[in-house]
Parts: sequence; structure tokens; C-alpha cells
Amino acid sequence: MRQLIAGNWKMFGKLADVTAFANAVKTAPAGADLLICPPFTLLERFAAALQGSAVAVGAQDCHPLPQGAHTGDISAPMLAEAGAAYVILGHSERRSDHGENNAVVRAKAEAAIAAGLTPIVCVGETEAEREAGEAEHVVRSQLLHSLPPGFAGVVAYEPVWAIGSGRTPTVDDVAAMHAAIRAALLAQLGPAAAELRILYGGSVKPDNAASLLALPEVGGALVGGASLKAEDFLAIASVAQRG
Ligand code: PEP
Repeated sequence: MRQLIAGNWKMFGKLADVTAFANAVKTAPAGADLLICPPFTLLERFAAALQGSAVAVGAQDCHPLPQGAHTGDISAPMLAEAGAAYVILGHSERRSDHGENNAVVRAKAEAAIAAGLTPIVCVGETEAEREAGEAEHVVRSQLLHSLPPGFAGVVAYEPVWAIGSGRTPTVDDVAAMHAAIRAALLAQLGPAAAELRILYGGSVKPDNAASLLALPEVGGALVGGASLKAEDFLAIASVAQRG
């Protein structure tokens, strides 16, 4: 399976950053599918700067409804109109900062699919849950309640404690969790789930990307901090599997 390397810029980035970043990534040799998810304010600029290239643009959230009186929110059709092809949903920072639960994530995933976007649904356990031996149970429950029937998007496994911390699970733990996620997806969604990409996210850097991306069932990476520098993002992409 060709891997997907997705950059999550979170609430970082200015208009002045777009051109140089886009020029660097769009001319890179394509060893993997590349995706950049900037803040809403830079979406349209990135889409224009990357037009005609193989690098896709995505958003970091959407509202479950197509339009309405929801101050400060952005709908999936609006994202599609701005040039997004993907949308990250249920990131642990959305779950903690905005109280998003699995039902909300599922409604957003349905809205994204209806608007023609590919949702990237994030799941992952807290450190306390891992220490209590509940990591797989928590992740299976998130999958069960966050993914709509017939889900045909991307899943990102992001242990909450690994995000932005510089810490990662062992490669054995990542491999075990990805195998558990694949089994859960097959049980939940049927044979079509064999084709879904399962990304790993949480402190992926140029120096650990090769060992993480070489693991079975790792279909790519969701990269936060290291996606802000084109050089680091491309170094990670360069060790991705062509599939
Ligand atoms: C993320 O934001 O999804 C993420 C994984 O961040 P970082 O790579 O900085 O840990």
C-alpha cells in the first residue's frame, strides 16, 4: 500500500510561509502521497500554490452540518470549495479542547464524506489508559463509535501522550496496535477495510520515521511539529514506502 504522509500544521503558519513550503514539497520526488493540512486561513492559498501537483491539501476540522447559524465554524462543503480533499477529525486536541466525543466525530465524518472529502479519523489512548492496560480496548471503542458504516477514509492512531512530547511507543507497541486496529476495522466494516490506510502519529521525526514507517499495517504518518519545516517533512516522506 502506498503510504500517506500528512502534515498537521495545527494553529501555526502565516501567509508568508505558503509559497516557499509549497514550492519545496511540490517538486519533491514522490515516494509517498503527500498531504498538508494548514489552518483554515491558509487553505485556499495552499490549494492554489499546489494546484497541478500531486500534493493534496486538507483541513483540521469541520462542522457536522453543511451550513447554519454556528459562529466560528466551517462546514465540509466550504472546505471542499476552498480546495481541501481531506479533513482531520477527532484529533485528541479537538477532543480535549472542544469536548468532542465519538458521536460528534462520527457526525463530522459523515458530513465530510457527503461533501466529497476524505476524513482522517484520529484515535488513541491517554498515558493512564495505556498504563492500565486499556489501550486497545479504548481504541477499539473509539473506532466503533467514531466511524460511520461503510467508512472509506483514513484512520490515524495517535497515542495522546506521544503527541508533541518527543516520546513514541516502542515499535512493537505500534505494530501491535496497528494489527489490532486492522482486525477491528475488518470486523466492523468488512473486507473493504483491508484497503484502509492506518497512519501512525505522535512525535514522528526524520530520525524515527524509517523504523515506524517500515512496520506492517502502518499506512503512513500524521506529522505535527516536524511538518512545519519542509526539509523535515520531506525527510520523513523520503523514507515512506511506495507500495
Ligand atoms: C499531531 O498533531 O497529530 C501530531 C502527531 O503532532 P506531533 O507530530 O508534533 O507529535
